[in-house]
Amino acid sequence: MARGPAKRTVAIVLDTTKLAERDLIVTLLAEDGTLECAVAKGARKGGSRFGAACELYRISDVLLAPGRNLSVMADARLVEGSPILPRDFEVLSACAAIAECVKAASVEGEGEGVVFSLTARALEILAQPLDLAHLKLIVSAFAFKLTAMLGWRVELDFCVGCGSADVRWFDAMSGGALCSDCAAKVEAAELLGDHRRSWIRALLLCPLAELARAPVAPDDAAWMAHLALAWTRAQLEVGLKSFAFFANLSSQAIG
Ligand SMILES: [Zn+2]
Repeated sequence: MARGPAKRTVAIVLDTTKLAERDLIVTLLAEDGTLECAVAKGARKGGSRFGAACELYRISDVLLAPGRNLSVMADARLVEGSPILPRDFEVLSACAAIAECVKAASVEGEGEGVVFSLTARALEILAQPLDLAHLKLIVSAFAFKLTAMLGWRVELDFCVGCGSADVRWFDAMSGGALCSDCAAKVEAAELLGDHRRSWIRALLLCPLAELARAPVAPDDAAWMAHLALAWTRAQLEVGLKSFAFFANLSSQAIG
């Protein structure tokens, strides 16, 4: 948004990059689902007028003025009830994975308001105390829900190769479930039992708040995070480094 009128919007801070001594370039997900980049002048100096409104993963009411190249943050205030995320390595890694998916899924100048709502909801849930398995569950559900909203819905009931209802395999690149004949032609296909299939369905259909309370085995959560990563990579055709880092986190490695 280099030219045009000023824009006031509620937005989520997805990324920040240091600029010069005191400034920040802030990447925002606006309420209409578009991605905006703006320079927040003086945001890194103590007592900045922006306060915490330009901090990562905060939800703020911002006024963006057109600038020469990037927009300029003319005003930013925290929205009441903006989630306060614990300064916890696992939680921040989960948030980074989510922010990365949103950025990778965004097309310049286009947006869907539902993407903002889903992201805001996910951050709200991640601000609650959750163990690593539940963090993985939320990020996996976020990835499947986000891609479904953008038109990539995972097929679980019929083989994506031939339409057969006898599906026992899964391949992210192919778009979902596969029958044994079709899976034999796909090197990366993995077994999809009823248990795993019902988990993928839950990630797509259950509200995030419900998943945050659902009993889940750490092994299942780890498997889902890897599957969600493979699925999102295949649909968005990007590497997703932060998501991969998060999917590989294990409790033992941290504790
Ligand atoms: Zn088939």
